[in-house]
Amino acid sequence: KAEAGKTYEFTTTSAAETIATGHKIAELLAPPKFLILRGDLGAGKTTLVKGIAEALDAAEPDEVTSPTFTLVHEYEGTQGAAKTPVNLYHLDLYRIEGERQLDTLGLDDLAAPDSIVLVEWGEKFPSVKRRSDGEIVMTSAGGDTRKIVLTLK
Ligand code: ADP
Ligand code: MG
Repeated sequence: KAEAGKTYEFTTTSAAETIATGHKIAELLAPPKFLILRGDLGAGKTTLVKGIAEALDAAEPDEVTSPTFTLVHEYEGTQGAAKTPVNLYHLDLYRIEGERQLDTLGLDDLAAPDSIVLVEWGEKFPSVKRRSDGEIVMTSAGGDTRKIVLTLK
């Protein structure tokens, strides 16, 4: 599992490779985890979640869509050979305006012992940054190349 303070870096050159990297990252994440998924529009944040969800047997990549309008998507999966239950939450706060609207989402209820919470645009909110266990930063390095960096606090 990923250790606090260490940085895990990946470079991908296609969406399929980012999904495969999602598999590796899923193995690194021991619940509970609350992570900000940071990167520009089109960086591949939602694509990475497709891979994480697939690795956790929580959803097929095609079933994972952007929660831009729905705000929260929940998937039930399992982790490891022991098939430990994991709840995967994928949020997108792009359209959320202010801490008060954020409160209506009930983030506290999602942070259960068996949950992995991945929050796109979480860096917009100091309260989300404060409560996060770390972040996955995605940057475009030109064309279809993406750099993916996981850091736990
Ligand atoms: P975000 O959620 O960060 O806005 P998406 O995952 O929704 O980004 O979209 C990323 C887009 O970039 C998709 O159309 C995907 O096919 C494309 N893409 C091209 N190369 C990559 C890559 N290496 N990793 C992820 N997505 C890529
Ligand atoms: Mg997205």
